[in-house]
Amino acid sequence: MTKINKLLVANRGEISLRIMRTAREMGIQTVAVYSDADRKAPHVRFADEAAYLGPSPSRQSYLNIDKILEVAREFSVDAIHPGYGFLSENPEFAKRVHEGGICFVGPSAEAIALMGSKLEAKKAVAKYKIPLVPGTSEAVTSVSTAKSIASEIGYPILIKASAGGGGKGMRIVSSEDELEEQMKRAMGEAESAFGDPSVFIEKYISSPKHIEIQVLGDQHGNVVHLFERECSIQRRHQKVVEEAPSAVLDKAIRMKMGEAAVNVAKACRYHGAGTVEFVVDQSLNFYFLEMNTRLQVEHPVTELITGKDLVKEQIWIAEGKKLSFSQEELQIHGHAIEIRVYAEDSENGFLPDTGTLSQYRLPQGPGIRVDDGFEEGMEVPIHYDPMLSKLIVHAADRESAIEKMKRAIEEYKVVGVKTTLSFCAFVMEHPSFREGTFTTKFVEEYFDGQRSNPKFSHTEKQLLAAFGAHFLQEASPASNNGTIAAERSVQSLSSWRKNRKHG
Ligand code: ADP
Repeated sequence: MTKINKLLVANRGEISLRIMRTAREMGIQTVAVYSDADRKAPHVRFADEAAYLGPSPSRQSYLNIDKILEVAREFSVDAIHPGYGFLSENPEFAKRVHEGGICFVGPSAEAIALMGSKLEAKKAVAKYKIPLVPGTSEAVTSVSTAKSIASEIGYPILIKASAGGGGKGMRIVSSEDELEEQMKRAMGEAESAFGDPSVFIEKYISSPKHIEIQVLGDQHGNVVHLFERECSIQRRHQKVVEEAPSAVLDKAIRMKMGEAAVNVAKACRYHGAGTVEFVVDQSLNFYFLEMNTRLQVEHPVTELITGKDLVKEQIWIAEGKKLSFSQEELQIHGHAIEIRVYAEDSENGFLPDTGTLSQYRLPQGPGIRVDDGFEEGMEVPIHYDPMLSKLIVHAADRESAIEKMKRAIEEYKVVGVKTTLSFCAFVMEHPSFREGTFTTKFVEEYFDGQRSNPKFSHTEKQLLAAFGAHFLQEASPASNNGTIAAERSVQSLSSWRKNRKHG
């Protein structure tokens, strides 16, 4: 059994702080890492020690495996927590940490690699009779094969990149005459984003819910689930509002999904914290989508309803301890909702925004948690994901949690950048959200802001394409950075627009 005394957090911002807070409570010394853009960031000041990685672009800092390992040796850490994004789902990183005699707070490199390929993951879990969305189990390269598969499963279908992440390489095809073109596009996008053009075909479930299950497994073969998170409010196939429990699952389906998730974890001998994602159709049939082999952005809602600190559990598991509770001992207490406060203009197609936080005041009071890495006066850096914070509320029931969230959003003051706060307030008021019947189509169906897509001039469109191509080339295939890449391209355009205004 390893005892972790000093932990390096190979990440930045809110998640770095969140992990270090738990480490400190456990008496573990912390080492933060930072790039040029983050020299004065709160996560750097919070840590016991901090190490400079390099220039602001992620490739030269937070994605630089050699440098991170060098720092880990220099500071004599005995463990590394990767957080989410960056290197968290890079099997090469996990392997090299391990080979360096340092404890990796996460699953084995083999489990990360297996689940990192959506196709391989599907094959592995099929053996355990986990329901899969109807579709192919092998990569599809020829249009004629794609046509015969698609007509078998019936349109609409979804073309997906096997190495996908962040919604990249995903194309909905509603009829056969669109198939050829969409397949070429998906393959091209997958190649440039992930260095792997493999795509596969799935039935497109119309208007589903995205519901995922949190699992925890120790190194002794024990796996439990910590119920579900409902994450259907999405833009660009990416989550903005999450809650636990889901308003539509009954106990029987919850347990069935939980069991399926535990089996998925067992299929890859999983240890650590992980998330098994499902799409759920209108009749509450659920289908496995993928497994994320790391701590999830939305993990706090699970912490609030179960009373478990997931980072503490991750650290104990990494140390080789057995899970300290059984499935039967876990219970749901009340209701939790999280909103992601992104520096984005939700009224303008959720276009990322940059600027200085000239005013930044957090909501307070009972049942409110804010996980953030910002302070008044700070600039929102253009290099990274534009999430300012996560605002999470916990109350006795869903209705009270919604009311609490409305009050918290009202109290939250951000001046200097546009944020998703107004969109989230809209969600809290919307009848379909209040009823719980909303699906992943929520934004498309109900939000006018989204419909008024950003009006780009011809030159802006060309610039956006150029930025996109540049960043997609930059994104490391194994770094799960497709989202960041895509978002950065838009972000660059918005900052370009600003500079142009000034210049
Ligand atoms: P990524 O890894 O790129 O985020 P996922 O497979 O997790 O991709 O899917 C992202 C989102 O896309 C899901 O949350 C869901 O909204 C939608 N989605 C994925 N697969 C399907 C499907 N077969 N039918 C309908 N929607 C889907």
